Amino acid sequence: MDIQKVGVVGAGQMGNGIAHVLAVAGYDVMLNDLDEAALTAALGVIQKNMERQVSRNLITQDEMTLAMGRVNPTTDLSSLGASDLIIESATERETVKQAIFESLLPHLAPHTILTSNTSSISITRLASGTDRPERFMGFHFMNPVPIMQLVELIRGIATDKETYDACLKVVEKLGKTAASAEDFPAFIVNRILMPMINEAVYTLYEGVGSVRSIDLSMKLGANHPMGPLELADFIGLDTCLAIMNVLHDGLADTKYRPCPLLTKYVEAGWLGRKTGRGFYDYRGEEPVPTR
Ligand code: NAD
Repeated sequence: MDIQKVGVVGAGQMGNGIAHVLAVAGYDVMLNDLDEAALTAALGVIQKNMERQVSRNLITQDEMTLAMGRVNPTTDLSSLGASDLIIESATERETVKQAIFESLLPHLAPHTILTSNTSSISITRLASGTDRPERFMGFHFMNPVPIMQLVELIRGIATDKETYDACLKVVEKLGKTAASAEDFPAFIVNRILMPMINEAVYTLYEGVGSVRSIDLSMKLGANHPMGPLELADFIGLDTCLAIMNVLHDGLADTKYRPCPLLTKYVEAGWLGRKTGRGFYDYRGEEPVPTR
């Protein structure tokens, strides 16, 4: 099947990146969010990131103008009804995602493929609440979307081959590389990455190292481009906590228990870069550790 129109639900840090790469690749994009301000902010971020691509000769000014014209913001979910493919990228909470799919269903054409950019939630369970589990799968981008090469494609138990192949074609048209993952909690990347981040928070919690020494150790000692706490702030601490909870509940193993300090940061509303404060405080010129 030929995908031309794509609906993106959720215009946060992932949704704006997804809309960006789809529009540059030539897809018509409807970008939805509950929050008008999130849509305005998303368009500003897309514009800024495309300008950066123009300045680096990755795209031309004309390509940018065309791509910006392909992104249509809307707070009305029903206007995504004409999409061939929907990529849901709202807040990492199962009830939020279920409610979005439920509201979308009456407006969709029978051929529309539904996908979720969830980092961890069961694709099979999300699919089972819809009328099309065979045309439902995980479409998991990495952050920041315009830069990161990988997309994890996750088959639910009922996902059919046509759906998988259609999504694979989209990934290829975006110039990205797909890795195939089975539908178990947090799939591949976050199954491995998130326990490491959680362990870094435990290392801080137990006083083994400071924020700076933990990040420095992993950058210079393990050759990671970012320290784990810096990366957690970049991902969003609410998203990190949600993924740990999915691993803990889904695999029933205490090794996945979220660090109480991670919970405390989320309870404080210190969610990382997106709220200006997390393991670092981003409100000044330079990030300053908060512990
Ligand atoms: P975010 O907090 O930046 O954005 C979430 C957006 O969803 C917000 O703008 C919010 O207003 C919107 N939203 C909430 N409920 C909605 C609804 N009912 N309808 C429409 N919009 C709604 O979060 P994010 O980091 O962009 O994460 C979004 C998804 O992407 C999550 O499922 C997350 O697990 C996944 N993801 C995140 C990362 C990452 O590094 N942050 C990486 C890969 C995947």
